[in-house]
Amino acid sequence: MADRQRLTETLIELIRIDSPSGEEDAMDAEVTARLSDLGLAVEHDAYNNIVARLDGAGEPVLLSAHLDTVEPGRGIQPTLDGDILRSDGTTILGGDCKAGVAIVLEALAAAVESGGPRRAVEVAFTRHEEGGLVGVHHLDFGLLSARTGIVLDGEGPPNRVTVSAPSQNVVTAEITGRAAHAGLEPEKGLSALLVAADILTRLPLGRLDAETTANIGWLEGGLKRNIIPERAALDGEFRSRSNDKLAWLEGQFRKVFDEAAARYPDARISLDIRNTYQAYRVAPQHETVAMIGRALDAIGLAPTLEASGGGSDANVFIERGITALPVGIGVRSFHTTWETALIPEVLQGAEMCQAAILGGNGAR
Ligand SMILES: [Zn+2]
Repeated sequence: MADRQRLTETLIELIRIDSPSGEEDAMDAEVTARLSDLGLAVEHDAYNNIVARLDGAGEPVLLSAHLDTVEPGRGIQPTLDGDILRSDGTTILGGDCKAGVAIVLEALAAAVESGGPRRAVEVAFTRHEEGGLVGVHHLDFGLLSARTGIVLDGEGPPNRVTVSAPSQNVVTAEITGRAAHAGLEPEKGLSALLVAADILTRLPLGRLDAETTANIGWLEGGLKRNIIPERAALDGEFRSRSNDKLAWLEGQFRKVFDEAAARYPDARISLDIRNTYQAYRVAPQHETVAMIGRALDAIGLAPTLEASGGGSDANVFIERGITALPVGIGVRSFHTTWETALIPEVLQGAEMCQAAILGGNGAR
Protein backbone atom coordinates (compact mmCIF):
# COMPACT_ATOMS: atom_id res chain seq x y z
CA MET A 1 0.00 0.00 0.00
CA ALA A 2 1.03 3.58 -0.66
CA ASP A 3 3.44 4.70 2.05
CA ARG A 4 3.28 8.27 3.33
CA GLN A 5 6.85 8.33 4.62
CA ARG A 6 8.37 6.97 1.42
CA LEU A 7 6.19 9.23 -0.75
CA THR A 8 7.18 12.32 1.24
CA GLU A 9 10.88 11.45 0.98
CA THR A 10 10.58 10.86 -2.77
CA LEU A 11 8.78 14.18 -3.23
CA ILE A 12 11.40 16.10 -1.26
CA GLU A 13 14.26 14.41 -3.13
CA LEU A 14 12.68 15.24 -6.51
CA ILE A 15 12.03 18.86 -5.47
CA ARG A 16 15.72 19.23 -4.58
CA ILE A 17 16.69 18.38 -8.18
CA ASP A 18 16.59 21.58 -10.24
CA SER A 19 14.59 21.06 -13.44
CA PRO A 20 13.47 24.35 -14.96
CA SER A 21 12.05 23.87 -18.47
CA GLY A 22 14.78 22.84 -20.91
CA GLU A 23 17.08 21.60 -18.13
CA GLU A 24 15.47 18.28 -17.22
CA ASP A 25 18.49 15.93 -17.59
CA ALA A 26 19.23 15.43 -13.86
CA MET A 27 15.54 14.90 -13.07
CA ASP A 28 15.28 12.51 -16.03
CA ALA A 29 18.24 10.45 -14.77
CA GLU A 30 16.79 10.14 -11.26
CA VAL A 31 13.30 9.21 -12.44
CA THR A 32 14.61 6.76 -15.07
CA ALA A 33 16.66 4.97 -12.37
CA ARG A 34 13.65 4.77 -10.05
CA LEU A 35 11.37 3.39 -12.80
CA SER A 36 13.99 0.76 -13.72
CA ASP A 37 14.38 -0.24 -10.06
CA LEU A 38 10.62 -0.80 -9.91
CA GLY A 39 10.92 -3.24 -12.81
CA LEU A 40 9.52 -1.09 -15.59
CA ALA A 41 10.88 -1.14 -19.15
CA VAL A 42 12.05 2.44 -19.70
CA GLU A 43 12.56 4.14 -23.07
CA HIS A 44 13.25 7.67 -24.26
CA ASP A 45 11.86 9.13 -27.45
CA ALA A 46 13.81 11.45 -29.75
CA TYR A 47 12.93 14.46 -27.54
CA ASN A 48 14.02 12.52 -24.42
CA ASN A 49 10.53 12.28 -22.98
CA ILE A 50 10.33 9.18 -20.76
CA VAL A 51 7.99 6.34 -21.76
CA ALA A 52 7.88 3.30 -19.44
CA ARG A 53 5.85 0.13 -19.24
CA LEU A 54 4.71 -2.10 -16.38
CA ASP A 55 3.36 -5.45 -17.49
CA GLY A 56 -0.11 -6.47 -16.47
CA ALA A 57 -3.44 -7.61 -17.81
CA GLY A 58 -5.61 -5.98 -20.44
CA GLU A 59 -5.46 -2.56 -22.04
CA PRO A 60 -2.88 -0.33 -20.39
CA VAL A 61 -3.77 2.75 -18.39
CA LEU A 62 -1.57 5.80 -18.99
CA LEU A 63 -0.17 7.69 -15.98
CA SER A 64 1.52 10.93 -16.92
CA ALA A 65 3.21 13.98 -15.38
CA HIS A 66 5.88 16.44 -16.49
CA LEU A 67 9.53 16.68 -15.42
CA ASP A 68 10.04 20.44 -15.64
CA THR A 69 9.12 23.38 -13.41
CA VAL A 70 8.72 27.12 -13.88
CA GLU A 71 11.18 29.66 -12.42
CA PRO A 72 12.31 30.71 -9.86
CA GLY A 73 13.00 27.00 -9.42
CA ARG A 74 16.71 26.58 -8.60
CA GLY A 75 18.13 25.52 -5.26
CA ILE A 76 14.67 24.94 -3.80
CA GLN A 77 14.74 24.32 -0.01
CA PRO A 78 11.57 22.39 0.86
CA THR A 79 10.49 22.27 4.50
CA LEU A 80 7.79 20.09 5.97
CA ASP A 81 5.55 21.81 8.51
CA GLY A 82 3.12 19.17 9.76
CA ASP A 83 1.15 18.13 6.66
CA ILE A 84 2.31 21.05 4.53
CA LEU A 85 5.40 21.19 2.36
CA ARG A 86 6.58 24.64 1.27
CA SER A 87 9.68 26.42 -0.07
CA ASP A 88 11.65 29.03 1.88
CA GLY A 89 9.67 31.71 0.03
CA THR A 90 12.41 32.73 -2.43
CA THR A 91 11.53 30.04 -5.00
CA ILE A 92 8.55 28.03 -6.14
CA LEU A 93 8.08 24.69 -4.35
CA GLY A 94 8.00 22.70 -7.60
CA GLY A 95 5.09 20.59 -6.35
CA ASP A 96 3.89 21.29 -9.93
CA CYS A 97 4.73 18.75 -11.16
CA LYS A 98 7.08 16.87 -8.76
CA ALA A 99 4.04 15.81 -6.71
CA GLY A 100 2.59 14.29 -9.90
CA VAL A 101 5.82 12.37 -10.59
CA ALA A 102 6.07 11.24 -6.93
CA ILE A 103 2.43 10.08 -7.00
CA VAL A 104 3.06 7.91 -10.06
CA LEU A 105 6.28 6.43 -8.58
CA GLU A 106 4.60 5.65 -5.24
CA ALA A 107 1.53 4.11 -6.93
CA LEU A 108 3.78 1.89 -9.06
CA ALA A 109 5.83 0.83 -6.02
CA ALA A 110 2.70 0.00 -4.03
CA ALA A 111 1.09 -1.90 -6.92
CA VAL A 112 4.25 -3.93 -7.54
CA GLU A 113 4.60 -4.74 -3.80
CA SER A 114 0.98 -5.86 -3.55
CA GLY A 115 1.89 -8.75 -5.86
CA GLY A 116 -1.76 -9.16 -6.89
CA PRO A 117 -3.28 -9.12 -10.38
CA ARG A 118 -2.92 -5.75 -11.99
CA ARG A 119 -3.64 -3.80 -15.11
CA ALA A 120 -0.85 -2.99 -17.61
CA VAL A 121 0.49 0.53 -17.11
CA GLU A 122 2.17 2.97 -19.47
CA VAL A 123 3.99 5.94 -17.97
CA ALA A 124 4.78 9.15 -19.88
CA PHE A 125 6.94 11.77 -18.16
CA THR A 126 7.24 14.73 -20.52
CA ARG A 127 9.83 17.48 -20.74
CA HIS A 128 9.15 21.19 -21.13
CA GLU A 129 5.43 21.25 -20.38
CA GLU A 130 5.49 24.75 -18.92
CA GLY A 131 5.22 27.54 -21.45
CA GLY A 132 3.77 25.66 -24.39
CA LEU A 133 3.44 21.86 -23.89
CA VAL A 134 6.65 21.48 -25.92
CA GLY A 135 7.58 17.95 -24.78
CA VAL A 136 4.20 16.36 -25.36
CA HIS A 137 4.02 17.94 -28.82
CA HIS A 138 7.26 16.05 -29.60
CA LEU A 139 6.18 12.85 -27.84
CA ASP A 140 6.48 9.68 -29.94
CA PHE A 141 2.90 8.42 -29.70
CA GLY A 142 3.95 5.24 -31.49
CA LEU A 143 5.43 4.13 -28.15
CA LEU A 144 2.01 4.29 -26.44
CA SER A 145 -0.97 1.99 -26.86
CA ALA A 146 -3.14 3.22 -23.95
CA ARG A 147 -6.47 4.82 -24.87
CA THR A 148 -7.30 6.04 -21.37
CA GLY A 149 -5.34 7.53 -18.52
CA ILE A 150 -4.70 10.06 -15.79
CA VAL A 151 -2.57 13.22 -16.03
CA LEU A 152 -1.18 14.06 -12.58
CA ASP A 153 -0.91 17.81 -13.01
CA GLY A 154 -3.98 19.53 -11.52
CA GLU A 155 -4.31 21.93 -8.57
CA GLY A 156 -6.17 20.80 -5.47
CA PRO A 157 -7.23 17.36 -4.22
CA PRO A 158 -7.11 14.24 -6.40
CA ASN A 159 -10.89 14.03 -6.73
CA ARG A 160 -10.81 17.22 -8.81
CA VAL A 161 -11.08 15.94 -12.39
CA THR A 162 -10.77 18.39 -15.30
CA VAL A 163 -13.23 17.26 -17.97
CA SER A 164 -13.06 20.41 -20.06
CA ALA A 165 -10.19 22.76 -20.97
CA PRO A 166 -9.70 25.56 -23.49
CA SER A 167 -7.76 25.97 -26.71
CA GLN A 168 -4.93 28.46 -26.64
CA ASN A 169 -3.69 30.62 -29.51
CA VAL A 170 -0.42 32.48 -29.13
CA VAL A 171 -0.14 35.97 -30.63
CA THR A 172 3.18 37.59 -31.53
CA ALA A 173 3.55 40.84 -33.44
CA GLU A 174 6.34 43.12 -34.60
CA ILE A 175 5.92 46.73 -35.54
CA THR A 176 8.56 48.70 -37.41
CA GLY A 177 8.25 52.48 -37.57
CA ARG A 178 10.98 54.99 -38.37
CA ALA A 179 13.71 56.25 -36.07
CA ALA A 180 14.51 59.95 -35.86
CA HIS A 181 16.17 62.31 -33.38
CA ALA A 182 13.48 63.21 -30.88
CA GLY A 183 14.70 66.79 -30.43
CA LEU A 184 16.03 67.74 -33.87
CA GLU A 185 13.56 66.18 -36.32
CA PRO A 186 10.77 64.27 -34.57
CA GLU A 187 8.44 64.90 -37.55
CA LYS A 188 10.59 62.51 -39.60
CA GLY A 189 10.00 59.66 -37.18
CA LEU A 190 7.17 57.18 -36.73
CA SER A 191 6.92 55.75 -33.22
CA ALA A 192 6.47 51.97 -33.27
CA LEU A 193 5.58 52.13 -29.56
CA LEU A 194 2.75 54.56 -30.26
CA VAL A 195 1.38 52.25 -32.98
CA ALA A 196 1.63 49.30 -30.57
CA ALA A 197 -0.18 51.26 -27.86
CA ASP A 198 -2.91 52.25 -30.31
CA ILE A 199 -3.37 48.56 -31.23
CA LEU A 200 -3.39 47.52 -27.56
CA THR A 201 -6.27 49.85 -26.70
CA ARG A 202 -8.41 48.37 -29.49
CA LEU A 203 -7.90 44.66 -28.86
CA PRO A 204 -10.58 42.70 -26.99
CA LEU A 205 -8.68 41.76 -23.79
CA GLY A 206 -9.36 40.30 -20.36
CA ARG A 207 -12.27 37.99 -19.56
CA LEU A 208 -14.49 38.12 -22.62
CA ASP A 209 -17.04 35.58 -21.40
CA ALA A 210 -17.24 32.56 -19.07
CA GLU A 211 -15.05 30.44 -21.34
CA THR A 212 -13.01 33.01 -23.27
CA THR A 213 -10.02 35.18 -22.23
CA ALA A 214 -7.36 37.26 -24.01
CA ASN A 215 -4.14 38.93 -22.86
CA ILE A 216 -1.14 40.79 -24.21
CA GLY A 217 1.44 39.90 -21.57
CA TRP A 218 4.61 41.49 -22.90
CA LEU A 219 5.45 44.63 -24.82
CA GLU A 220 8.94 45.86 -25.63
CA GLY A 221 10.32 48.55 -27.87
CA GLY A 222 12.48 51.58 -28.38
CA LEU A 223 16.17 52.19 -27.87
CA LYS A 224 16.94 55.46 -26.11
CA ARG A 225 15.25 58.44 -24.55
CA ASN A 226 16.07 60.77 -27.43
CA ILE A 227 15.23 58.49 -30.36
CA ILE A 228 11.75 57.98 -31.79
CA PRO A 229 11.30 54.22 -31.26
CA GLU A 230 11.68 52.32 -34.50
CA ARG A 231 10.70 48.88 -33.28
CA ALA A 232 8.13 47.37 -30.93
CA ALA A 233 7.18 43.76 -30.29
CA LEU A 234 4.33 42.20 -28.37
CA ASP A 235 3.49 38.74 -27.12
CA GLY A 236 0.09 37.54 -25.96
CA GLU A 237 -2.50 34.83 -26.13
CA PHE A 238 -6.19 34.10 -26.22
CA ARG A 239 -8.10 31.03 -25.06
CA SER A 240 -11.58 29.62 -25.21
CA ARG A 241 -13.25 26.33 -24.45
CA SER A 242 -15.30 27.02 -27.63
CA ASN A 243 -13.43 26.61 -30.92
CA ASP A 244 -16.03 28.86 -32.63
CA LYS A 245 -15.21 31.69 -30.24
CA LEU A 246 -11.50 31.08 -30.72
CA ALA A 247 -11.93 31.46 -34.50
CA TRP A 248 -14.06 34.60 -33.98
CA LEU A 249 -11.41 36.07 -31.68
CA GLU A 250 -8.65 35.37 -34.19
CA GLY A 251 -10.71 37.32 -36.74
CA GLN A 252 -11.09 40.24 -34.30
CA PHE A 253 -7.34 40.33 -33.61
CA ARG A 254 -6.50 40.26 -37.32
CA LYS A 255 -9.02 43.04 -38.00
CA VAL A 256 -7.46 45.33 -35.36
CA PHE A 257 -3.97 44.80 -36.79
CA ASP A 258 -5.19 45.25 -40.40
CA GLU A 259 -6.94 48.50 -39.49
CA ALA A 260 -3.78 49.73 -37.75
CA ALA A 261 -1.79 48.93 -40.90
CA ALA A 262 -4.25 51.09 -42.85
CA ARG A 263 -4.01 53.96 -40.32
CA TYR A 264 -0.20 53.87 -40.34
CA PRO A 265 0.71 53.11 -43.97
CA ASP A 266 4.39 53.89 -43.29
CA ALA A 267 4.66 51.32 -40.51
CA ARG A 268 5.42 47.65 -41.13
CA ILE A 269 3.23 45.41 -39.00
CA SER A 270 3.63 41.65 -38.88
CA LEU A 271 1.24 39.46 -36.93
CA ASP A 272 1.56 35.76 -36.17
CA ILE A 273 -1.24 33.78 -34.53
CA ARG A 274 -0.77 30.06 -33.93
CA ASN A 275 -2.55 27.37 -32.00
CA THR A 276 -0.64 25.69 -29.16
CA TYR A 277 -3.35 23.29 -28.03
CA GLN A 278 -6.91 22.29 -28.78
CA ALA A 279 -9.89 22.49 -26.44
CA TYR A 280 -11.52 19.34 -25.14
CA ARG A 281 -14.75 18.40 -23.43
CA VAL A 282 -15.19 14.85 -22.13
CA ALA A 283 -18.70 13.65 -21.25
CA PRO A 284 -19.39 12.59 -17.62
CA GLN A 285 -20.39 9.15 -18.98
CA HIS A 286 -17.00 8.63 -20.64
CA GLU A 287 -15.10 5.47 -19.67
CA THR A 288 -12.12 7.50 -18.40
CA VAL A 289 -14.36 9.47 -16.01
CA ALA A 290 -15.86 6.16 -14.85
CA MET A 291 -12.39 4.59 -14.41
CA ILE A 292 -11.19 7.55 -12.30
CA GLY A 293 -14.50 7.47 -10.40
CA ARG A 294 -13.99 3.79 -9.50
CA ALA A 295 -10.42 4.45 -8.35
CA LEU A 296 -11.60 7.37 -6.17
CA ASP A 297 -14.46 5.30 -4.81
CA ALA A 298 -11.96 2.63 -3.74
CA ILE A 299 -10.34 5.18 -1.40
CA GLY A 300 -13.60 6.71 -0.21
CA LEU A 301 -13.70 9.82 -2.42
CA ALA A 302 -16.21 11.04 -5.01
CA PRO A 303 -15.11 12.92 -8.13
CA THR A 304 -15.93 16.58 -8.78
CA LEU A 305 -15.90 17.29 -12.51
CA GLU A 306 -14.54 20.72 -13.40
CA ALA A 307 -13.90 22.99 -16.37
CA SER A 308 -10.47 24.61 -16.40
CA GLY A 309 -9.18 27.90 -17.77
CA GLY A 310 -5.78 26.43 -18.57
CA GLY A 311 -4.34 23.74 -20.82
CA SER A 312 -2.09 20.82 -19.94
CA ASP A 313 -0.50 17.78 -21.58
CA ALA A 314 -4.01 16.27 -21.43
CA ASN A 315 -5.12 18.56 -24.28
CA VAL A 316 -2.53 16.95 -26.56
CA PHE A 317 -3.11 13.38 -25.31
CA ILE A 318 -6.81 13.79 -26.09
CA GLU A 319 -6.07 15.33 -29.50
CA ARG A 320 -3.94 12.23 -30.20
CA GLY A 321 -6.67 9.76 -29.18
CA ILE A 322 -5.75 9.03 -25.54
CA THR A 323 -8.47 10.22 -23.18
CA ALA A 324 -6.23 11.04 -20.21
CA LEU A 325 -7.77 13.53 -17.78
CA PRO A 326 -5.99 15.83 -15.30
CA VAL A 327 -6.62 15.28 -11.59
CA GLY A 328 -5.40 17.28 -8.59
CA ILE A 329 -2.01 16.41 -7.08
CA GLY A 330 -2.52 17.95 -3.65
CA VAL A 331 -0.72 21.16 -4.58
CA ARG A 332 -1.97 24.76 -4.21
CA SER A 333 -0.83 28.06 -5.78
CA PHE A 334 1.05 26.69 -8.80
CA HIS A 335 3.78 28.96 -10.19
CA THR A 336 4.12 31.10 -7.04
CA THR A 337 6.72 31.31 -4.27
CA TRP A 338 3.92 30.47 -1.77
CA GLU A 339 3.10 27.17 -3.55
CA THR A 340 2.31 24.36 -1.06
CA ALA A 341 1.85 20.59 -1.20
CA LEU A 342 -0.60 19.01 1.22
CA ILE A 343 0.92 15.60 2.00
CA PRO A 344 -2.35 13.77 2.88
CA GLU A 345 -3.79 14.77 -0.50
CA VAL A 346 -0.61 13.78 -2.36
CA LEU A 347 -0.93 10.41 -0.62
CA GLN A 348 -4.56 10.13 -1.72
CA GLY A 349 -3.37 10.76 -5.28
CA ALA A 350 -0.98 7.80 -5.01
CA GLU A 351 -3.71 5.60 -3.46
CA MET A 352 -6.09 6.52 -6.26
CA CYS A 353 -3.53 5.66 -8.96
CA GLN A 354 -2.73 2.42 -7.16
CA ALA A 355 -6.46 1.59 -7.20
CA ALA A 356 -6.57 2.38 -10.93
CA ILE A 357 -3.70 -0.07 -11.50
CA LEU A 358 -5.24 -2.78 -9.31
CA GLY A 359 -8.69 -2.31 -10.85
CA GLY A 360 -10.17 -0.74 -7.76
CA ASN A 361 -9.16 -3.64 -5.50
CA GLY A 362 -6.73 -3.72 -2.65
CA ALA A 363 -5.75 -0.05 -2.54
CA ARG A 364 -5.76 -0.14 1.24
ZN1 LIG B 1 2.26 21.47 -14.30
